[in-house]
Amino acid sequence: MKMISDKMEASLNNQIREEYFSFWSYQAMALKFEDMGLKVFAKWFYLQAGEEKEHAEKIAQYLIDQGAQAKLQALEQPKSDYKSAEEIVKEAVDHELHITRKINELVDQSQTENDHATDSFLKWFVDEQVEEVSTVSELLSLVQMAKEPDQLFMLEGRLRHMIENRK
Ligand code: MG
Repeated sequence: MKMISDKMEASLNNQIREEYFSFWSYQAMALKFEDMGLKVFAKWFYLQAGEEKEHAEKIAQYLIDQGAQAKLQALEQPKSDYKSAEEIVKEAVDHELHITRKINELVDQSQTENDHATDSFLKWFVDEQVEEVSTVSELLSLVQMAKEPDQLFMLEGRLRHMIENRK
């Protein structure tokens, strides 16, 4: 038996697409960093991409647990014509702010529908977005401090430390 509304099922399936598009975008960003020779930045974005894939899978599993259908949708081609490290990380910040708005919309919908189970399920994502926006904003501050390209390479030591301390 399906325990959530058709409308909620559709919205959560759209969020699966958003999370997979995050995965796809961060993979493209990682490849761009590889291209720039910034291996630790690339590693950070590959790890980030992996987390996004887990987010998509978590929502798909929730739909299945609620007797609904999880469906995969077409993804757009991710942007790849970045001109600088700062442009990439700025795009990642904007993207996480977009995802935060999408999660908030889902919470609003669950509350409007008195869908307490989905509201409770989404709390993990609300908390996760606080963490995501904070981490990627910290990364942007670091990149903006680097005035010369060489300084980006020096930043990689600091970034390696951030990777080791990831939860
Ligand atoms: Mg996510």
